[in-house]
Amino acid sequence: MPPGGDIWIGDDAAVVTPASTGRTVLATDLLVAGVHFDESLGTLEDVGYKALMVTVSDFAAMGVRPSYALVSIAAPPGTDVDRLGAGLAEAAGETGCVIVGGDLAQSPVLVLSTAVFGVAETGGVPPMLRSGARPGDHLFVTGPLGRSAAGLRLLRAAAANNKTTTNTTTTTTTTTTTTASTSVDPSRPPVPDLVRAHRRPVARLAEGEAARRSGVGAAIDLSDGLVADLRHLAEASGVGADLDTVPAAEGATRDEALSGGEDYELLVATGSPDALVATFRAADLAAPLPIGRCTDRPGRLTLGGDPLPPGGWLHRF
Ligand SMILES: [Mg+2]
Repeated sequence: MPPGGDIWIGDDAAVVTPASTGRTVLATDLLVAGVHFDESLGTLEDVGYKALMVTVSDFAAMGVRPSYALVSIAAPPGTDVDRLGAGLAEAAGETGCVIVGGDLAQSPVLVLSTAVFGVAETGGVPPMLRSGARPGDHLFVTGPLGRSAAGLRLLRAAAANNKTTTNTTTTTTTTTTTTASTSVDPSRPPVPDLVRAHRRPVARLAEGEAARRSGVGAAIDLSDGLVADLRHLAEASGVGADLDTVPAAEGATRDEALSGGEDYELLVATGSPDALVATFRAADLAAPLPIGRCTDRPGRLTLGGDPLPPGGWLHRF
């Protein structure tokens, strides 16, 4: 229920009272079936969940909590919109973001648009930007990479083998693991985790907030893959970057960790690495993983001394 005087769903527009005063932070995303996701590889609940979570992830990258969301859905006739709504509501509940309005229309293809609003309080530490990295800054990621891309690979292999339906993948994809990737130890198949990472990514809100409080200079969420998003951050900041290592998740290949995309972990650059680690520890968060340093050579990104491949946008659903 909205607080007195506020109006959520049901009138011409929503009316909200932000919990604190400060700068309004806004972000929006568009998810199009056949472009950003494959309807056959998950449920409608998954699609709804992910649609909101990927926009909230942009808030995590700023270190700001989301407050309200508007969600618009265009769907083919017969689409079970309630199932989309259930996934959206789940993501909203987990992130403390209230869906206060939206729109619904018919369309030949399923499209979800999510717009999220939040407030960065006046007098607090400012939101983290892509442009705040400086030469010498230490680079960290908030978790191992490549899980979503590995999960997508397993889902596709399972679909291709026609061994599964969309709702039973976790039990049947195990058998495809050994043929899908030579990097996977068949005795410890991490398949359910990987599939879940693809279908149900989780925005790193607590990590983003902790990073901002610790004085992180720059941050970005890893939606397009480490190589592409590192390039975005480095270009915005006018720095280069030398990576020592890339932490691939168990079951993910090196290529998936480098450029698979949709990890939604955060990449941060900080001049105070000890403060970052201490703040994460105090907040009971998994330790951030060091991956390298920023340099004073703009445009040059290396891994183990070798130039990084151009990499880029590899959203293959
Ligand atoms: Mg982003």
